Amino acid sequence: MNPALKRLYDWSPVPVQNFLLGAFSSSLNRGRYRGRFAEFRTLLEQSQWWDAPRMRAWQEERLRAVLTHAYEQVPYYRESFRAVGYDPARFRGLDDLALLPVLERDVVKHRAADLRSRAAPRLTEGHTSGTTGSPITLFYDPDMIAMNYAVMDRQYRWAGLRMGRDGDRAAVLRGNVIVPLEQKRPPFWRRNRAMNQAIFSTFHLSPQNLPAYLGALREFRPAVLDGYPSSLYVLAKLLLNLGERLPLRAAITSSETLYDFQRQAIESAFACRVFDYYAAAERVVFSVECDRHEGHHLCEEYGVTEFVGPDGTGVPDGTEGDMLGTTLHNLGMPLIRYRTTDRGARKTAACSCGRGLPLTEDVTTKAEDVLRLRDGRLISPSVLTHPFKPLDSIEGSQLVQTDLDRLLVRIVPGGRFSEADRAHLARELKARLGDDMRIDIEVVDELPRTSRGKFKWVVNQVGTGL
Ligand SMILES: [Zn+2]
Repeated sequence: MNPALKRLYDWSPVPVQNFLLGAFSSSLNRGRYRGRFAEFRTLLEQSQWWDAPRMRAWQEERLRAVLTHAYEQVPYYRESFRAVGYDPARFRGLDDLALLPVLERDVVKHRAADLRSRAAPRLTEGHTSGTTGSPITLFYDPDMIAMNYAVMDRQYRWAGLRMGRDGDRAAVLRGNVIVPLEQKRPPFWRRNRAMNQAIFSTFHLSPQNLPAYLGALREFRPAVLDGYPSSLYVLAKLLLNLGERLPLRAAITSSETLYDFQRQAIESAFACRVFDYYAAAERVVFSVECDRHEGHHLCEEYGVTEFVGPDGTGVPDGTEGDMLGTTLHNLGMPLIRYRTTDRGARKTAACSCGRGLPLTEDVTTKAEDVLRLRDGRLISPSVLTHPFKPLDSIEGSQLVQTDLDRLLVRIVPGGRFSEADRAHLARELKARLGDDMRIDIEVVDELPRTSRGKFKWVVNQVGTGL
């Protein structure tokens, strides 16, 4: 939503907000389902059953097109391919990727303009969350957007669901600030008819508000809950603590690591299986659980995924490595051998479902804490990434809840971290956590790690009480 529309939304009564959400989503839908969506959807239905040689041949055809376009139309690759003496006219296959340099996140941040195609159609802007570094800005072309929705659509079908206006009712628990924070009474949700969704606020989840959530969910009768694992877990635990259950057909989680204890609580509270998927704003890797839950299937139609060791060469199947992704669609801003911030491994075993798409071990992503506020609300870490997204003056950050009403924000500046940036952060964090939360921003040179050397973006020192 653009700022003007968001202001209008914030000032409108609930029925008007419901209407605005639907209208906004409808306009997005025209983008989602326009273009090549139907074509990609049909492709994905068939390609999931292809054997490895057939998939490899398909990927190589797409990769050749991407490398050729990158060399001819994207200044950064013109330069970097020449530097290593690579010419896509002599393309031989997927193994060519090993000849090319790894694309680091810093390059995407500092040379974004050079990574855009000179022949780009209308591009849509996106941002990474910036939990493990500074946020970066990305651009997607229409084919990329269509493919992204096609892969999500297939994921819903793997879970026995249909997505979209005529699809199954979905209750969504993500980072949208759709209900004002100062609002103390229900409804803590809004309807989005264009997607047949009810969007629930993740900022009002608390033991006191649970009966209202439960009532609304029972009235809406969703087939699926779709959201952050930490948000679904909070809801599940609150239900279980009351001895309540809310049967669903499936739960869909993404954007954070899904822990076993979260999966167990969610599956128990909602009497269904969890279908987790891994995706990121860079849109080079997408992996999804099927109904066998033996790992995440790599969507090879989406991009080429490599797992590499410290020297940039591939590791054997079953061995963990840095995950590199290469787009097969986004000619507008193609990322080639992009080093994601995540690690993972390709499994040696195939899935018992018979699909040809290889399995990965569970990907290690963000492992963060949930915050607990004085009024009992439990806040998912992912929703706190949004205030950081527009700021490119931050190299790294960390949030530490030291008290029920104090949040320490550590910032490692990556440019000029101005007073305006500081004010933006404090304001946007307060908009999500409430005015009572004291936000202390501290500029540091380095961010502390846990005793095991891991970096944690959100640290809760007061406990969740779940
Ligand atoms: Zn499978």
